[in-house]
Amino acid sequence: MTERPLVRSTVRTYIAVGANLGDAQAHVHAALHALETVGSVQAVSHLYRTAPHEAIGPDYVNAVACVDTAHNAVTLLRHLQALEAAAGRQRSTVNAPRTLDLDVLLFGRASVWSPTLTIPHPRMWTRAFVLYPLRDVAPHLVGDAHLAQVAGQPITQL
Ligand code: ADP
Ligand code: MG
Repeated sequence: MTERPLVRSTVRTYIAVGANLGDAQAHVHAALHALETVGSVQAVSHLYRTAPHEAIGPDYVNAVACVDTAHNAVTLLRHLQALEAAAGRQRSTVNAPRTLDLDVLLFGRASVWSPTLTIPHPRMWTRAFVLYPLRDVAPHLVGDAHLAQVAGQPITQL
């Protein structure tokens, strides 16, 4: 007889949260709570305000959460997209203003490449609005040299 594990194993994932439409701060707070539906939220960063980077529209509010999830990466992304839709996100053009953006930055040690999912997130190391909040929840992952790379991008802790 094969034994079934009593505890389902989880993977530590880091999820970036961003919003720049409506009450962006409220959308980010609500999303951080909603992440409890995809796993066990271990830590949540400060909130940050940034000017749009390679995008247009009002300033963004950004944060990062550390979540231990039992989902695989593809299912996790599907759940995150459902949360974006529930927050009223319309997908128009690339980098268009959005009520909620949820990106998978890291998923354990996994490397994933497919047309719909790339992990680690390909642009995470070039974005101040990712690196500052990521450092709050995972200081071992973000060093001073990483932050020096994004020194030209203004960012304010809220
Ligand atoms: P962005 O977050 O780059 O501003 P979108 O949120 O509109 O853009 O996402 C565009 C597509 O990026 C999504 O449909 C999704 O399939 C894909 N994607 C690829 N890798 C990731 C990832 N790591 N996290 C979230 N979405 C991803
Ligand atoms: Mg996204």
